Amino acid sequence: MATKLFESLIVGPIHSRRLGSSLGINLLPEHGKICSFDCIYCECGWNKDHEDDRTLPTSRQVEKALTEKAKQLHKDGVRVDSITFSGNGEPTIHPEFAKIVDITLKVRDKYLKEAKVSVLSNASMIWKEDVRKALMKVDNPILKIDSTDESLVRAINRPNARYSLEETIENLKKFDGNFILQTIFFKSETLDSTRKDLAESWRNLVRELKPRQIMMYTLDRDTPAQGLVKASMEEMREIALPLKEEGFCITINGEKA
Ligand code: SF4
Repeated sequence: MATKLFESLIVGPIHSRRLGSSLGINLLPEHGKICSFDCIYCECGWNKDHEDDRTLPTSRQVEKALTEKAKQLHKDGVRVDSITFSGNGEPTIHPEFAKIVDITLKVRDKYLKEAKVSVLSNASMIWKEDVRKALMKVDNPILKIDSTDESLVRAINRPNARYSLEETIENLKKFDGNFILQTIFFKSETLDSTRKDLAESWRNLVRELKPRQIMMYTLDRDTPAQGLVKASMEEMREIALPLKEEGFCITINGEKA
């Protein structure tokens, strides 16, 4: 298993399929993983294999590291399309997440004006008002729902803290469509997220939430669970087609559907 951790607080800029030139912020440990989910496809590996380092950076450390990096990139004329919260786990579990979003927006406005601020989140903490409000301030809140079936969410995402799919969907409605929905499609011996009934129920969720953009994607790197198989572009295009015809903006593996 060759899953991989981010090994610093600030990463990149690196090229991202979905976000272009992306400067990453890892609010989680540099040598560990902390997440409210433990997805079978997580590129960072299982939570239990990365429990040794539980140290989170403080907001002051983030401000210092981000400011230094942004200043240097500005000086060197390096283009950054996105300042992206991702990293070794779920960024919104950081106790200072809301404060760090404010800091990041200020640093962006000062040094990297062209960059969008993006948060890749599993949406498990949006029941918290401060997290929800912080996500509403960023340019790209990219929020995950992998299945509309709670038992499948439990099998795929394996939440390990407070989580209710129904509650998450209710809280997503508060974004009034001003968010990006991310959903992964893949197959295993026991699961097939491209199955027709699951695809139709997922499309109905999209129709209900009306996200301004939908990012469909499949596996890209090694996964901690064995035997997972990518969904093909054709399968994902077929799932996307009715929504595309209804006018939704959809990307598949970073390409326009
Ligand atoms: S939500 Fe993201 S970081 Fe957390 S386990 Fe799933 S894929 Fe990994």
